[in-house]
Amino acid sequence: MLTVSHWDNVKKRRFGRKLPITRETAAVIRTWQARRRRLEVPSRSRKYLFPSITDRSGIAHMGSSLANAMREWVAAIPVLLGDELDEHGSRMPFDRTLIFPYAFRHAYAQRHADAGVPVDVLKELMDHRSIVTTMSYYQVSLKRKREAIMTMRRHTIDRSGRPAPVTSTTDYEAQSVAVPFGNCREPSNVKAGGKACAIRFQCAGCGFYRPDPSYLPAIEQHVNDLRADLETAKAMDADDFVVRNLADQITASTTVADTMRSRLSSLPQDEREEIEEASAVLRKVRASRDHKLLPLTVIRKDTPDAG
Ligand code: SF4
Repeated sequence: MLTVSHWDNVKKRRFGRKLPITRETAAVIRTWQARRRRLEVPSRSRKYLFPSITDRSGIAHMGSSLANAMREWVAAIPVLLGDELDEHGSRMPFDRTLIFPYAFRHAYAQRHADAGVPVDVLKELMDHRSIVTTMSYYQVSLKRKREAIMTMRRHTIDRSGRPAPVTSTTDYEAQSVAVPFGNCREPSNVKAGGKACAIRFQCAGCGFYRPDPSYLPAIEQHVNDLRADLETAKAMDADDFVVRNLADQITASTTVADTMRSRLSSLPQDEREEIEEASAVLRKVRASRDHKLLPLTVIRKDTPDAG
């Protein structure tokens, strides 16, 4: 569940920006606001989330003092380990110099890019003026893309959940196109860059559907959306055929997602990690609409042609 935070991009002089945040994040901010209201701060600092507590700096909000406070806090953490392993397989210490306030903004952007949030959406979230700035979070080397496809082509399934590995990276690229919930191998749709689906993207019921684990979050989101649509259709007293169609799509898409999850959970940990990494790369490439290597065009569900 999301709510909206209002903020001013003072640095770029763009005011009244809106940022969707989770209700949990909003609750944390409210808790802090209640605490902050009890602090004695100069009157001109009261409107800030992180106010200056004295007038000495001449700045009404926290500036470098926030970075200093964070540095002290990080230094006081007794043990801080990163994800990298040493030659004995033990986690190595995390580089504490990488933790500073501005890094949170980068981490926010990178996590969204890795999750496959479309580049134009992230541009809005970050309030970048130019998409070129946002694109830097989507950069993936050609080598990493190829490796990701090499990994993923082995884990492609069909609409029934049966393994349908793609024979080569060339085949993955040239014989399919990325549509909202998986790759599509229907020749006329591939030729049209994914814009010519004859059955309005009801992929889980289509013989040309070839999803792989990089699409799992999109499929899960699709199932949630369909469930919401089903409830709406029932509330609207829609005809049986409408309800049946939605219910059948939910069943088919759930089968695809369940099969994929169960296949993943049966794999060794290192292979699962390899697939997760490849998935992040492919989602990022699709989200950036980089058409150089992957299926030619990414068709988003909200395009006029998508059902
Ligand atoms: S339903 Fe999906 S897989 Fe089938 S032709 Fe349309 S886009 Fe392709």
